[in-house]
Amino acid sequence: LMKKKIAILGSTGSIGKSTVDIIKNDKKNFETILLTTNDNLKELTKQIKQLKPKNLIINNRNHYLKIKKKYKKINTFNNFDTFLRKNKKKIDYTISAISGLSGLQPTLDIIKHTKTIAIANKETIICAWNLIEKKLKANNTKFIPVDSEHFSIWYLLQNKEIQTVEEIIITASGGPFLNWDLKKIKKASPNIAIKHPNWSMGKKISIDSATMMNKVFEIIEAQRIFNLDQTKFKILIHPQSLVHAIVKFDNGLTKILVHDTDMKIPIFNSIYENSNKKV
Ligand code: NDP
Ligand code: MG
Repeated sequence: LMKKKIAILGSTGSIGKSTVDIIKNDKKNFETILLTTNDNLKELTKQIKQLKPKNLIINNRNHYLKIKKKYKKINTFNNFDTFLRKNKKKIDYTISAISGLSGLQPTLDIIKHTKTIAIANKETIICAWNLIEKKLKANNTKFIPVDSEHFSIWYLLQNKEIQTVEEIIITASGGPFLNWDLKKIKKASPNIAIKHPNWSMGKKISIDSATMMNKVFEIIEAQRIFNLDQTKFKILIHPQSLVHAIVKFDNGLTKILVHDTDMKIPIFNSIYENSNKKV
């Protein structure tokens, strides 16, 4: 049996670590081709032991030099170009989970080298979906959104024509300040803003959730991915965060997707599409 070849861009982040957990529990079916990281040397060292990756791209130059010296059997790179030039075999599944726009170039570059790309990095989709889409088409690469709302919409739209969609409702927890009055919010500290009531996430997205900007980003993200007009979207405050998306169709039926507030669920289902594997 051929093992599935996996690449995790941003393996030391919140999404990255959840992906590593899934892969390390099924090593007989997966082979880790690539992990990419920046500053978190401690987490990377742990992941090297757990997954025995074939290649590493480490952005932080000092850490790159350290790891290159320490692990002679792993191909360690300081940039994507050298890795991509050397990598001849197609990766089966790549997850794009670097935060912010640092994730854009790596995401664009790896599309040619992977059969499937699951993208968590919403900034990339918002800023450059047209470039991503072009590359996906040119290389016949499959795309799966991982942001939970978008994964839900994507899942609900399977075997459906996009023209049959009348409305999409994206849910929002309301974040840590939902029931605070404005005066109190003014004095809130970053530490409180970062403590999301339902999700455990990286710092940037946690702040974006506290200000509700994350939901604005998600509407733009959904417009791009599903090629729908802005007027088709609504936001619903739903503090329990169990329903992630609601899609109304023109046949009078409405579908909703419910799952626990754990990003491992959309990630897991983007990896094990149509399989009988238990989460
Ligand atoms: P984190 O901040 O937890 O992780 C970011 C990852 O990117 C880390 O591995 C970090 O490396 C790496 N990284 C950061 N800057 C660079 C750089 N300049 N070059 C190379 N690598 C870099 O982020 P999250 O996991 O929370 O989020 C990742 C993406 O997924 C974001 O775009 C976010 O909006 C999106 N997302 C996240 C969700 C969540 O639940 N966390 C939910 C939905 C979407 P290191 O740690 O080694 O420094
Ligand atoms: Mg989301």
